[in-house]
Amino acid sequence: MEECDANCESCATKASCTDPRKEMDAMARAVSARMGRVKHKIMVASGKGGVGKSTVAVNLARSLQARGFSVGVLDADITGPSTAMLLGVEGERLSAGPAGIDPVDSRGVKVISMAFALSDSGSAVVWRGPMKMAAIKQFLSDVSWGDLDYLIIDLPPGTSDEPLSVVQLLADLTGVVIVTTPQEVALLDSRKAVNMAKSMKVPILGIVENMSGLVCPHCGEVIEIFKIGGGERAAQELRVPFLGAIPIDPEVAPLGDDGVAFVERRTAAAESFEKVVDRILEEVEGARKATLR
Ligand code: ADP
Repeated sequence: MEECDANCESCATKASCTDPRKEMDAMARAVSARMGRVKHKIMVASGKGGVGKSTVAVNLARSLQARGFSVGVLDADITGPSTAMLLGVEGERLSAGPAGIDPVDSRGVKVISMAFALSDSGSAVVWRGPMKMAAIKQFLSDVSWGDLDYLIIDLPPGTSDEPLSVVQLLADLTGVVIVTTPQEVALLDSRKAVNMAKSMKVPILGIVENMSGLVCPHCGEVIEIFKIGGGERAAQELRVPFLGAIPIDPEVAPLGDDGVAFVERRTAAAESFEKVVDRILEEVEGARKATLR
């Protein structure tokens, strides 16, 4: 048997080859062909669940869309997908077009989520790491994302298989946004998320402190439900940018349940969130484009 040529394209025996590396090579080429048309790939991560990571991912997508960018959202939380609901497309199903799997359209934002492959929203996906990896590969290689300015990748909470899969498949990730809440237990986990990103050499765009105080709807004063400012201190300590704080806003959850991002309304949280997006854009695109709306 002829010695394996790492470059399958130029290999004389490629037609009859059964080496699994050939398949991997084809997959890598498919991912890079699709993802080469996406300018910026941003992961949104958190050390623990319930801190508002998916809410931040979806609002980031909508804010970027409102600023004139073309945007896609990849829900990489295979076993606990929630971005479809937050984007108001929960009941949609996957369909195949001539160029591959068609992403679902959520008022101009392209979305792919495991939720579109489930028979109903209460179904559970009980998959081990390799299956989740296969799903993420397919979402990156077989979905006809087209040309995008931004792909926002909503990761599951914690430091599990999915971030590793995404990082292995996307060598040119723009960076990761890490979401935390001010409680020490969340901050501890966000430090783990920062350290994981550092160990995987993923650029850290910064930390967002969500649920940072409650703006009183009557007097406008900030009530410190949990001690605020921990996210900023953690960012300083870990030497990563602090992107800003978003208050607890009673309008956020009902809007999310209705598939509306809070940045689409003049909510208390929206103003703070836009400043977070300004900072992300300053890092990614430079200051000039940050204010382009
Ligand atoms: P995660 O993705 O970290 O598990 P979610 O984005 O699903 O968290 O948010 C958990 C819940 O908290 C949702 O009901 C969401 O609407 C709510 N939430 C998120 N951020 C805020 C906020 N700033 N103010 C009020 N509620 C929020």
